[in-house]
Amino acid sequence: MAEPLVLPGFVNAHSHTFQRALRGRRTGEDFWAWREAMIAEAERQTPDTIQREYAETYREMRAAGYTAVGEFHYLGVEEARAAAEAARDAGVELTLLLTAYARGGSPRFLQASVEEYIRQVDELRADGLRLGCAPHSVRACPRDWFEEIGRYAADAGLPLHVHADEQPREIEECLEEHGMRPIELLSETGCLGPRTTVIHATHADDRELDLLASANSRVCLCPTTEGNLGDGFAPFTRLRERRIAVCIGSDSNVRIDPFEELRELETTARRESGVREVCDAETLLCFGADEGGASLGLEQWPVIELDAEHPCLRAVAGGDLLDALVFGCGADVVAG
Ligand SMILES: [Zn+2]
Repeated sequence: MAEPLVLPGFVNAHSHTFQRALRGRRTGEDFWAWREAMIAEAERQTPDTIQREYAETYREMRAAGYTAVGEFHYLGVEEARAAAEAARDAGVELTLLLTAYARGGSPRFLQASVEEYIRQVDELRADGLRLGCAPHSVRACPRDWFEEIGRYAADAGLPLHVHADEQPREIEECLEEHGMRPIELLSETGCLGPRTTVIHATHADDRELDLLASANSRVCLCPTTEGNLGDGFAPFTRLRERRIAVCIGSDSNVRIDPFEELRELETTARRESGVREVCDAETLLCFGADEGGASLGLEQWPVIELDAEHPCLRAVAGGDLLDALVFGCGADVVAG
């Protein structure tokens, strides 16, 4: 019997778990068409469906090696409690990233005011849930909401997660409304800091990435979803050049496999740059685990065991193990 291989559990820093229901469904020709189908799916959710379906999907994550998840949640307070229950059932550590939504989307996503949003965060914190603040995006929140939520999250020491620069249209609209780009607006409104994680940053320009670097903020990349939605290429090489910490998320849950997320990050950057080893395997695995944990404000989360006798590890020398995991394995190498 070979010794069991133990690694830190992977951390899924960005999941909209209800979107697992859309896996395999044909949902139109671009991101905006997909978004319509996604909103229709969101509107069907109830606390009961969430408790049941999320537990199944969290088990799928657990089996793939994710032992902690950040649930970017915009379906309501009762539904947040149901998600927490589902995570307990499945044995994954949950950080509930409660979303602030002022406009657009579905009426069920919305709070009437930023004060109402903060009351919801306080209420769930009082229940004992681990919370993070999540102004959805510059599309969904006006400037004063960012100012208020940035202040609240900093005072409370909570993680702050926000989508930014996923699609070119979002940047055009932001320039029109605010005369600046999305990450510039986050910086202006006090939303960038070491507890901030920007989701995607796909179309961020160099100045926006410089702002993230000087604020010590992280970026969460979700390559299988970004590929599926046609978002574009993650700016992985430019993030590495600035030493910006990266974490990963299964986002729409079209695919749940942390090895594949990490491999896509690195091999896409290799294709673009013609350089091998944009990032070494050890650092990639750290992005998949420790940086996600830090992004979600976790101090500990369960480790995972790998099947050392799995065929994909056959004839791999001990010193080559980490590279073999990132470049030659999938989630089925996780034992049990
Ligand atoms: Zn998202």
